[in-house]
Amino acid sequence: MVKGRRAIGLMGGTFNPIHYGHLVAAEAARDAFHLDQVIFIPAGQPPHKSGLAVADPEHRYLMTFLAIVSNQHFEISRVEIDRQGPSYTSDTLAHFRALDPEVLWYFITGADAILDIVSWHYPDAIFQNAELIAASRPGYSLKKIEALKQQLGAERVARIHPLEVPALAISSSQIRERLQQGLSIKYLVPEAVEHYIAKNQVYAEFGA
Ligand code: ATP
Ligand code: MG
Repeated sequence: MVKGRRAIGLMGGTFNPIHYGHLVAAEAARDAFHLDQVIFIPAGQPPHKSGLAVADPEHRYLMTFLAIVSNQHFEISRVEIDRQGPSYTSDTLAHFRALDPEVLWYFITGADAILDIVSWHYPDAIFQNAELIAASRPGYSLKKIEALKQQLGAERVARIHPLEVPALAISSSQIRERLQQGLSIKYLVPEAVEHYIAKNQVYAEFGA
């Protein structure tokens, strides 16, 4: 970290729904990289998930808001939800960088999502605008990052910072499946999110 320079983490995701795996990864990144803030950015229309069941963006926004509101260092952004067309991380990072070029921007991903990086839209724009934090996630190996060297080059791979976070084998897909089967999601998501899903029947109409 450069002393005196503000550092902000950007946590992108579909958050369909948000769960403790997301929150733990964001908080661990905040601690390890001395981030002043982490901004959660629910995706509008996820380019990789258009064929699958994704809850209404406003539901995902509100669930994410409920999950982060008690952490004074966590914020939420509507930038991807309000943008027309597919949500590309490269556009989002360019947006935040333009807001304040003096801030050291970090994009936080899990060990699975980081591997998609080469298939992302405009990887150049990603590396121009942010450092990347790759959080460990049960079932996915951070060792695969080294294998990206051939595709991305050593210089870029050096800007991907692996981070061991407390292991939580939780996924949004598993939560949707559990809801579909009438199983409890208690202690997998914040209580307010659990109640919001039940009250609004967010996942009543589609499968996992
Ligand atoms: P889905 O099963 O629908 O893909 P998900 O649990 O992977 O949902 P996403 O919204 O796709 O959640 O993930 C957003 C970001 O959070 C990604 O970078 C992902 O790798 C990371 N992430 C999700 N769950 C965890 C977890 N349990 N531990 C660490 N990182 C996670
Ligand atoms: Mg995922």
